[in-house]
Amino acid sequence: MVLAELGGRISRAIQQMNNVTIIDEKALNDCLNEITRALLQSDVSFPLVKDMQTNIKKIVNLEELASGHNKRRIIEQAIFNELCKMLDPGKPAFSPKKAKPCVVMFVGLQGAGKTTTCTKYAYYHQKKGYKAALVCADTFRAGAFDQLKQNATKAKIPFYGSYTESDPVKIAVEGVDRFKKENRDLIIVDTSGRHKQEATLFEEMRQVAEATKPDLVIFVMDSSIGQAAFEQAQAFKQSVAVGAVIITKMDGHAKGGGALSAVAATKSPVIFIGTGEHMDEFEVFETKQFVSRLLGNGDWSGFVNKLQEVVPKDQQPELLEKLSHGNFTLRIMYDQFQNLLNMGPLKEVFSMLPGISSEMMPQGGEKESQAKIKRYMTMMDSMTNEELDSSNPKVFNGSRIMRIARGSGRIVTEVMEMLEEYKRLTTMWGKMKGIKIPEKGNMNSL
Ligand code: GDP
Repeated sequence: MVLAELGGRISRAIQQMNNVTIIDEKALNDCLNEITRALLQSDVSFPLVKDMQTNIKKIVNLEELASGHNKRRIIEQAIFNELCKMLDPGKPAFSPKKAKPCVVMFVGLQGAGKTTTCTKYAYYHQKKGYKAALVCADTFRAGAFDQLKQNATKAKIPFYGSYTESDPVKIAVEGVDRFKKENRDLIIVDTSGRHKQEATLFEEMRQVAEATKPDLVIFVMDSSIGQAAFEQAQAFKQSVAVGAVIITKMDGHAKGGGALSAVAATKSPVIFIGTGEHMDEFEVFETKQFVSRLLGNGDWSGFVNKLQEVVPKDQQPELLEKLSHGNFTLRIMYDQFQNLLNMGPLKEVFSMLPGISSEMMPQGGEKESQAKIKRYMTMMDSMTNEELDSSNPKVFNGSRIMRIARGSGRIVTEVMEMLEEYKRLTTMWGKMKGIKIPEKGNMNSL
């Protein structure tokens, strides 16, 4: 089950409680059972799900809740909190300090995305002012050094490796020593993987860790591995002191449950997620945002922060005012498209909005999406003020649609597709109706 589907099922289970007149034991059980089924099908391990169910029942004591209480909200909050708790191991991950050389070792199965993620991690920190360096101690996979070299060169990060040396421990030690001498403050060691968990892999990992004494070991896990997530993460944790987890391939058909299981198995937080093959398709993992997205609530705070970066300050109060009244017109859509185009990686912006990412981000990615948005904007350029300012899609009768198509040099079905998109966005942005407008229209305090 893909992440969005899991979220959808959980929210529907919660919604179901709206349809019953009294929220009693049965209604709560039905809801929790549906959530349990959804989580299990998304590869969250059984004991975790069981614990969650017990905890929620403990928190939501139906008999004690006076009838005036909004039970649905309380249950919803408890579910949200429990999901967050599952993802919170109770201690933050070690974070590298500048000006003190620190060694970060990456472990994981072959194909998990280790090498790609090492570079993403290095690149991310380099942008934040760290002096990063990469060491390729993966002597098992042919081509691993070449891949790391290629990625590192692209990101302009110094690297170390060997085509002839077959001892990963020796390479790791040499690389770490060299970069320490060069005063690099973040030395990242990529280790070998195997197709499956094997004693030789774990032994090698132990030796590399013993020789390089990493400050942090990061376990890289492919989000699509299914029910094996818990056991795999646990096996790695038992061999080396895993201190953080990175989940890769959260784009595509990712299963969300693996993240929950990996945290439970390693007692370490997820620190980043990989959302594509490119260097900058890498996001800091934020528990509350993740669960919010999972439940389909949309990550409005993240989105608003992003908007704030590009919506000119003087336009912010007006935009918020309109949205808070649920007034999402085509003109607002036009302005927001303009903002989106300015905001840079569209994929990053879209991924914060449930429902928008898959539709607006076609297979081809960034370029196609930009083209699509520009196409929509050309069609909107052919609209009258009345059309742009109306929030009622019914004004678009056949002759208006034909006129817009002719005026913009597009075909009728394209105009209709754009209007469909508008309708979809209206529903989504409609969720902002009733938001409290912060003082002085400052988006910061949302
Ligand atoms: P390693 O064997 O663990 O070092 O794995 P690689 O770094 O070679 O990655 C294996 C494959 O997964 C490569 O084709 C990567 O481009 C791809 N990959 C890695 N991370 C991601 C991600 O977050 N999303 C997607 N879609 N592909 C990824």
